[in-house]
Amino acid sequence: MKRTADLKTEILAVGTELLTPYFQDTNSLFLIERLNDLGIVVAFKTIVADDHEDLMGCFRTAMKRSRLIISMGGLGPTEDDRTREAAAEALGRKLVFDKTVSRSIRERFRRRGVRMPSSNRKQCYVIDGAEVLTNPNGTAPGLWITSGSIRLVLLPGPPHELKPMFEKDIWPRLRAIGSGFTLRRVLKITGMSESLMEDRIRAVYPKLPPEADITTLAYPGELQVRLSVTGAGDPTSSETVLGTLEKLILKKLGENVYSRTGETMEEAVGALLRSRGRTLACAESCSGGLLSHRLTNVPGSSSYFLEGVISYGNTSKNRLLGVPLSLIREHGAVSGPVAEAMALGVMRRAGSDYGLSITGIAGPEGGTAAKPVGLVYTGLAWRSGAAVEKNVFFGRREIVKFQSTQKALDVLRRRLMEEEI
Ligand code: ATP
Repeated sequence: MKRTADLKTEILAVGTELLTPYFQDTNSLFLIERLNDLGIVVAFKTIVADDHEDLMGCFRTAMKRSRLIISMGGLGPTEDDRTREAAAEALGRKLVFDKTVSRSIRERFRRRGVRMPSSNRKQCYVIDGAEVLTNPNGTAPGLWITSGSIRLVLLPGPPHELKPMFEKDIWPRLRAIGSGFTLRRVLKITGMSESLMEDRIRAVYPKLPPEADITTLAYPGELQVRLSVTGAGDPTSSETVLGTLEKLILKKLGENVYSRTGETMEEAVGALLRSRGRTLACAESCSGGLLSHRLTNVPGSSSYFLEGVISYGNTSKNRLLGVPLSLIREHGAVSGPVAEAMALGVMRRAGSDYGLSITGIAGPEGGTAAKPVGLVYTGLAWRSGAAVEKNVFFGRREIVKFQSTQKALDVLRRRLMEEEI
């Protein structure tokens, strides 16, 4: 990715808790994404404890090597919040009492019917010469400081405070400094291995213009191709480059791409069911309700999702879905014929257009040489037929469960795409 000229940038995440196993520095992920959107590449990211000397050292180092420094955290009222003091010392500036900040913090407490605790007085001091950034969701104001060619920004740590402040006060200022941007698109793919996908898209790499980038990521049941194009000024030509690149990839991967605008698999399937005016019912064994859970996570799913049955035991498969016990005895509960009977059974029971089923061995125990852990059958029934698929998934129990649902949804997605509208 190209860098906005002369704006070497770094991030400082402040907080002793961020150096324990219990808290993660998620703010910097947000910041990096938004900075990248402006074509700003982050060169360094430091996590530092609430220690005055260490903090000051970090600010001093940052000011030697970077032009834009964004710190977050340590602006609170408690003794261990030391960012303001350390930044002031590193800059060689004083902290000065700010009447406006004091008034707004007092007002905040007054609205809640309490007096401002004396510890909050600390937050009324700002670095001399700083622009104060109001914090609508907390008491700690942010600070924007210009020192020669350096811009230093101090933001509070809680994400619900930092994010709106970044959008309202930092984004427009940075946008005015540079006119760079990054356009992005994420394609989500399923039904093929990472290496097969790589083989198919390899031919696109030599055609990449220098301002474009392709990254691939693999998760259980999902691959991603992330496209980005950086530019400056008018984005029209960059949009064309991104569009052309996307078309090339789509041509190579075809129907394996289930999402182009960030939607989840369940959202993609839901949209297809809705547009085709079809209804669905599910029968789940080893996925234990996860398929129905995912489907019903989508707002408005009641217009197409009619019923979900968790039939874990053999007798329940017979009692709730009408799967003949003799079929289970003959083939086993984890088998193609049982998956098909479950899908047909739940479709008849619910009176839906489609029935989707899952039966398998999620592990870690229960596998045999003939039926190993990870063996999962998915079944799909429709008014005039049914089909089953045999799969073997790898990974721990939750991953097998997730992949089972991903596969079942994908089978339905592909069928719906073939349907006449
Ligand atoms: P406050 O006035 O709320 O105390 P603050 O600027 O002092 O603001 P911190 O005390 O440093 O913020 O952090 C408060 C909480 O915000 C932390 O316990 C943590 O949950 C969250 N937080 C801080 N930094 C980060 C970060 N980099 N990423 C994600 N969460 C963070």
